[in-house]
Amino acid sequence: MFLPKSIENFVKVFSSFPSIGQKQATRLAFYLINQKSKLREARKSLEDLEKNIIVCSECFMPFQSSASLKSNVCPICLDRRRNRKIICLVEKETDLLTIEESKKYNGLYFILGGEISPVDPESYKKIRINPLIKKIRRDKIEEVIIATSLTTAGDLTAMYVERSLKNLGVKITRLGRGIPTGGEIEFADPETIAAALKRRE
Ligand SMILES: [Zn+2]
Repeated sequence: MFLPKSIENFVKVFSSFPSIGQKQATRLAFYLINQKSKLREARKSLEDLEKNIIVCSECFMPFQSSASLKSNVCPICLDRRRNRKIICLVEKETDLLTIEESKKYNGLYFILGGEISPVDPESYKKIRINPLIKKIRRDKIEEVIIATSLTTAGDLTAMYVERSLKNLGVKITRLGRGIPTGGEIEFADPETIAAALKRRE
């Protein structure tokens, strides 16, 4: 397809993002070219993301930085009213948001940063298993709730995590019952999450 170089570059960058295909990226490029104010807004919000978001050193959830805030630990991890002996293990940030929205979970979280893919034998190296083990040991965590999706990759990830934590003497449960097979945590509704938390095993 004939495309001016700058548009081609834009499409190359944006179609490498999750959930955006080549066609969508191309359409987006033309849209932004014709809507200069949107283009400026987009640039501003990208800069804002880069400058003002910190990733929590404890759970790896990104949060808003502020001048008064000296810590690189997120508000959830700092919240003393939460149960600090339980960790809910999720694949990604949006899973954390879904569980948090259910308002039925009062422990801490840990974002694994990915899942184990049945077609990528190296994928287990990409998840944050060592920082997790370190945290469990240091903070004397009593329970880890594995909240990976009910998919093949989610099951593989759960199995791998369970094996890795086996000798730490921590109780391991899995958030599963009530969430349909093939279901992703991110898309579960609050009632389903609440029920699955209650009946974890
Ligand atoms: Zn945190």
